[in-house]
Amino acid sequence: MFARDEELAQWQAALAEAQGAQRWPLLQLLAWHQRQRDTQQARRLCAELTPLLALLPAPQAALARCRVLLIDAEAEALHGRLNAAQLLCLQAANQLELATAELPREAALARADIEWLQAWLANDRGDSHAADQALQRAAQAARSAGDAVRIDVIDAASGICDTFSDWQAAQQRWGQRFGTDLSAVAPIAAGWISDFFGTCAFQRSEYGRAIGHLMLSFESALASGQLRRAIIIATNIGNGFTSLNAHEAALDWMQRGLDLARPTGWPLSIGMCLMQTAETLRQLGQREAAHTLLREALHTLQPLSGSRAYAVALEYQGDLALDLGHYEAALDSFTQLAARGDALRQSDFRSSARRGQAHALSHLGRADEALAAAQTALQLAREHVDASAQIAALNVLADIHAQHALPPPQTMQAASPVLHYLLLALEVAGTIDGYTVSGALLDAIAREYAAVGNYERAYAISLQAGAARDQIHSQQATNRAIAMQVQYQTERAQTEGEHHRQLAAAEAERAEVLQQTSATLTHLSAIGQEITAHLDAAAVFRALDRHVHGLLDATHFSIFLLDADGDWLTCAFGTEAGNQVPAVRVALSDPQANTARCVRERREILVELGAADLTPNLIPGTLPTQSLLFAPLHVGERMLGVMTVQSLQASAYGERERLIFRTLCAYGAIALDNASAYRQVAATLKALSATQEQLLEKNLELERAYKALEEVSLTDQLTGLRNRRFFLQNVDADVALSLRAHDAGQHRELTICDLTAAKDLVFFMVDIDHFKQVNDRYGHAAGDSILVQMRERLREVFRESDYVIRWGGEEFLVLARATHREEAHVVAERMRRAVAEREFILPDGATLAKTCSIGFACFPFMPEQPRLLSWSQVVELADQGLYIAKRSGRNAWAALYSTAATRSEGVFPRLMQQLEQAVTAGEVRLVTNLAGPLNLVGERRRTGLSSDLET
Ligand code: GH3
Ligand code: MG
Ligand code: MG
Repeated sequence: MFARDEELAQWQAALAEAQGAQRWPLLQLLAWHQRQRDTQQARRLCAELTPLLALLPAPQAALARCRVLLIDAEAEALHGRLNAAQLLCLQAANQLELATAELPREAALARADIEWLQAWLANDRGDSHAADQALQRAAQAARSAGDAVRIDVIDAASGICDTFSDWQAAQQRWGQRFGTDLSAVAPIAAGWISDFFGTCAFQRSEYGRAIGHLMLSFESALASGQLRRAIIIATNIGNGFTSLNAHEAALDWMQRGLDLARPTGWPLSIGMCLMQTAETLRQLGQREAAHTLLREALHTLQPLSGSRAYAVALEYQGDLALDLGHYEAALDSFTQLAARGDALRQSDFRSSARRGQAHALSHLGRADEALAAAQTALQLAREHVDASAQIAALNVLADIHAQHALPPPQTMQAASPVLHYLLLALEVAGTIDGYTVSGALLDAIAREYAAVGNYERAYAISLQAGAARDQIHSQQATNRAIAMQVQYQTERAQTEGEHHRQLAAAEAERAEVLQQTSATLTHLSAIGQEITAHLDAAAVFRALDRHVHGLLDATHFSIFLLDADGDWLTCAFGTEAGNQVPAVRVALSDPQANTARCVRERREILVELGAADLTPNLIPGTLPTQSLLFAPLHVGERMLGVMTVQSLQASAYGERERLIFRTLCAYGAIALDNASAYRQVAATLKALSATQEQLLEKNLELERAYKALEEVSLTDQLTGLRNRRFFLQNVDADVALSLRAHDAGQHRELTICDLTAAKDLVFFMVDIDHFKQVNDRYGHAAGDSILVQMRERLREVFRESDYVIRWGGEEFLVLARATHREEAHVVAERMRRAVAEREFILPDGATLAKTCSIGFACFPFMPEQPRLLSWSQVVELADQGLYIAKRSGRNAWAALYSTAATRSEGVFPRLMQQLEQAVTAGEVRLVTNLAGPLNLVGERRRTGLSSDLET
């Protein structure tokens, strides 16, 4: 029935993409929903749709034709051509016969829409009864189609119509039907239901509340293309503000309505805005301006003289005439209004028409008629439970009695008829909840009491009048505040609404452009894919060249690229009539060159020359072309250069050609940029891999240097043997290995022999005898050369796998692995002889005989208890052996072995401090080549490895 702006925008976008058979349903939807938004556009879309209908199956075609007719009917109705609209409605209904059987739901929806339009036509004619019936038929059709939104909208419209004839009954009936919580209701339906509630509130004289409801419906109507409804609501909101004495806000809303109405040319919409504005001006005391405007309003509304709007205008005209003292004219207006009110069966008019007539008649001296009319007005107002109208009628009755000497009313108890009616008015006012009696009414009563001599009462009432005026004043202020507040909310809502509308309009415009160009673009996008697939500039040039010539008349085609500094443009590619263009260079600052200008100004340049013109800036050797098109090559903000096509033909490049060229430029720019990026990335990658190789080489070098350094740190520089640091780094691992072998052996319960075999470590301590003397006698260099020669002799004796360590000075430690402990003395003897039996050669060529002393010990010291002594304690024992050899004569070796009698407890300190007793006790076995007496006691320097007393 109605669609929101967002939906419309979506369909428009979809239409831009749609092809062939996909188009007609979108065209139909768009035409239908543009019917009030843009009547002309709706008709244009219908014109595009109509030829397509021949291709559709009959029922669909009939339905579509029905819609097309209905769109036309609505356009006629909007322009006040009610008969033409009616005829089109009937034609539309005829189409439905073909569709009902096959497409029952769609047909029912269309039926509902036809009846809806007919209800509106009846309403504009002033035929409330027919309108009512049409609405009922519309609701029935909507119900049979099961369309919840249409049902709500149509019911709400029925509710609004009912409100004018009997607002209490309408409120009772429809208020229950809708409920007040609209959160679950579709926005469009909620808009109409709010309209109903607003109209009810209006009839109850609750204007602030009414405006609140009406604003919701205004927004909803505007956002769903119900322009006519939106304008009506805007004027009703204006009317509400007028009733609150908030005239500025009222005028603002009327302006808003008028702004919407003027471009449409719809008489009802424009007329309503004009008359409402006129009424506000009247209330502001601007009678002349009101008069002019009201005349224009009535003139505009003439084609719709049967409508409620026209009746309202008559009432305003009557009141204005009364204000102006034009009582004949006033009587005329109110007499017309009485006729219209009766025809419309709208009670509010019937009462106010009589009230106005009575007022006019009284001033025209027709007292009896005035009295009768006023009494009728009062009676009608009572029937309609319209308190305001009752008070107005009673005021007129008082006025009539004040002017004319008439018989008092039968029920009169007051002192005068005037007082009688005024007090009645006061009484009615008292029945209305929250109603503030006007100061004017109280003043009149006070005056009347004074007139009848009741000064006491007159005084009391006049005091009340003063108080009432104060209260009304503050009430007016409150009303004003409500008005301001509501006004503020509207402005916000309106700004947002306006924004949405602008978006939708922009979207629609875009969609149309898209649609026109989509075919060309489809072709171009294939080309684009091809061009942008290349990663090398030359290939991009070739692809561009091929497509430029395929799509455009281009005798000349060239591409200029900006150099790295951005100062020069160089022709990177160019062909003309099949020949290569010379590789020219153009300064970017060149004021004449089109290429330079195009890049500088970042815009397309089209040069069109007449046949007689000379091509400006002609590149030497190129043809005098007449159409020259230049377009910048850029990717985002980055300018790459310029592309140009030129033709010998005049006016070769129209809008279409320019669009194509522009697109090719865009693709070209992207592709060239890609190619350049690819080139750069490739170069960077190459540089990167070279750097990586260098880095790898550096790392290797560093590693080698580190290894060399480490080697140095583990080697004794004089002899080239390993040093103490090396020994300490490695000994633990060998000790652990030996211990593991022993542990494993023990589990297998092997013999002692097996246990010790190949699992022992033997520590030999070798020290040159009287070495100090060498230094003293032959010099330090001689001492050094002997130390160097010691290395060869040690190597001869020990195995490659043994650690030979320069322990310090002229002292060497050897760790022999996998050596049988009982064989160790053989090795010691070989070492002793290797030194003693061969002379050393001194640097001066002289020779020198030297000897050495050796001590050794085995690890584990006790194979049965491998962890009894640590390796460092074993080294101490070897040292102990060395010093036994030294003290007992030198050029000898000595070793300490455990025995079966070795007591494990406190063994180490005992061997270090009470060796003699231990040997005597047989707790330790001394193995040595010494024959003479042994010196077991004496000074021994420490190895620096462990405390002697450590156990
Ligand atoms: P003993 O038979 O008791 O071992 O007597 P010794 O002279 O060999 O022992 P002592 O500890 O008294 O002297 C060792 C000397 O070795 C002292 C020092 O001058 C010398 N020495 C130590 N390191 C070097 C070295 O690197 N080069 C030279 N030329 N002499 C060294
Ligand atoms: Mg020595
Ligand atoms: Mg020494």
